[in-house]
Amino acid sequence: MHILGAGLSGLSAAVVLAKSGREVHVHEIRKDSGARFDGDFQGLENWTSRRDFFDEMREWGLDPDEFKSDPFSIVDLAHPDDVITNPITDGVAFRVVERGTGHHCIDQGFKRMAEAAGVKIHYGAKKAPEECHIIAAGPKDSSAIAFGEVFHTDHPNHVTFQLNDKLAPGAYSYLIIIDGIGLICTCLWRKQKKSGRYLNETIAWYEERY
Ligand SMILES: Cc1cc2nc3c(=O)[nH]c(=O)nc-3n(C[C@H](O)[C@H](O)[C@H](O)COP(=O)(O)OP(=O)(O)OC[C@H]3O[C@@H](n4cnc5c(N)ncnc54)[C@H](O)[C@@H]3O)c2cc1C
Repeated sequence: MHILGAGLSGLSAAVVLAKSGREVHVHEIRKDSGARFDGDFQGLENWTSRRDFFDEMREWGLDPDEFKSDPFSIVDLAHPDDVITNPITDGVAFRVVERGTGHHCIDQGFKRMAEAAGVKIHYGAKKAPEECHIIAAGPKDSSAIAFGEVFHTDHPNHVTFQLNDKLAPGAYSYLIIIDGIGLICTCLWRKQKKSGRYLNETIAWYEERY
């Protein structure tokens, strides 16, 4: 079986197929898994289903202990009128993971699982999509763009999710702090002339409150 793309989808499919006895080759255009997103925090949501997503992963033969994740059951939710509430979920609401090429990143965890299952990953490789059984090359065009700043802080781990049309029109912004690294991002539906201004005003909003 030939798979295009050694991201999370391609590597998950590769692990499942290899564990069912297939010979699997994954062709990745970049030099390593995670290179596309190096250093980004992303959230694995867990609040929309009764079953814990990590239990589902284990059922599929994927080990969530292969990468670092930080679970949250409570967040600061900042409403358009600047009121902050704290929705609480029983169990884990979501987990923050880091994308990238570091050992603790989710992409590298999936890579290790694939290699342990016997998958052959070809990095820096070009392969025609027609020659592949599974195309897992990620989204081509994204409808949303995230602008962000990374910083160092001694603030404890924390997540704020904000809905505010003045700071991120029609979309959202967020603050994530994990182990002394902070990320403030404003997400916009497309690149706008005032993108830089939205980010600066978003950063100022968080500075004032945290
Ligand atoms: C700014 C941003 C923030 C996001 N935040 C979140 C979040 O918080 N939570 C969430 O669940 N999702 C988030 N997403 C979506 C998330 O990125 C996807 O859910 C996830 O990465 C999809 O996995 P994938 O394997 O399909 O694609 P990817 O992880 O992008 O992997 C695709 C792989 O294919 C490779 N590739 C591309 N073209 C070729 C080619 N021609 N030949 C060979 N290889 C190729 C790429 O290099 C890459 O390694 C975010 C996306 C963006 C852009």
